[in-house]
Amino acid sequence: MNTHHVPSLPERIQPNTWLAHTWVHAQTFKLNQNPTYVGRFAPSPSGKLHQGSLITALASYLHAHWHGGVWRVRVEDVDTSRCTQAMGEHQLRTLRTLGFQFDEPVLWQTERFSAYRAEFERLRAQHQVYPCTCTRSQMAQNPSAHHCALGIDEGTTIRTWRFRADHQVVTWMDEAGHSHTQTVDDFVVKRGAHLSDEWAYALAVVVDDAHQGITHVVRGEDIRASTARQIALQKALDYPTPQYNHVPLLRNAAGEKLSKSEQAPELDTLNPVDTLLHAWRFLGGHDFECADVTEFWKTVKTL
Ligand SMILES: [Zn+2]
Repeated sequence: MNTHHVPSLPERIQPNTWLAHTWVHAQTFKLNQNPTYVGRFAPSPSGKLHQGSLITALASYLHAHWHGGVWRVRVEDVDTSRCTQAMGEHQLRTLRTLGFQFDEPVLWQTERFSAYRAEFERLRAQHQVYPCTCTRSQMAQNPSAHHCALGIDEGTTIRTWRFRADHQVVTWMDEAGHSHTQTVDDFVVKRGAHLSDEWAYALAVVVDDAHQGITHVVRGEDIRASTARQIALQKALDYPTPQYNHVPLLRNAAGEKLSKSEQAPELDTLNPVDTLLHAWRFLGGHDFECADVTEFWKTVKTL
């Protein structure tokens, strides 16, 4: 980024915050010829959206909008033991009530199993995945007993398929120009036997980001650690790597992440303006008066 000429920030954004950085970055990005930007918000419908999910949704939406890009929504319901269609539809209704605008139809991961299968078979043909017979508790108690990468005994029950990452070292750059280096261990891309349709999030997210042409990923910083794994898989599948940007998390008084599993309160859609302003302030926006949802969006989009 050209640091010699920093555009002056709009009044409604406080400096030295996530929003301020994003706004400045977007001004520079738009100066490029033919900027390409496709962003996404990808909630998992294992519970209702909460204030933490709204912060991520608003962050990725504004990031996309200010960069002159497209914003897509993907329902990450690949884990059918935890996610339901009804909950996915509830989440989409909540987003619409709050005034988010996105492409239709929305992509659902449960409609993508044939694509995951095809890419898994490609990895298998390239010997980049191998079957693992270890249970979750075996892996936790004695990870050194896991020798499945060298081959498994005929007739043993296959519990998962792992991507052969071979402890490769992945370095990636975030939007602020900070470099992150991580070593990637073999990780699960599929559960169950070869012909079952039990796909892991790690595979689905990478296949879907490539399918949807996602150029910029904006998500909570709790998922930052999975970035190197995703990049390793993108390389194996000859996919481009998006630009990754992680948003600070909403934490409770004890400093813990506010998530569905910790009984985070449901979003207040009866008072949508207050709900949106709360997320806006968390990201670093100054308070402002607005009568309704339309006025909120008009104000924050035209900054
Ligand atoms: Zn194993």
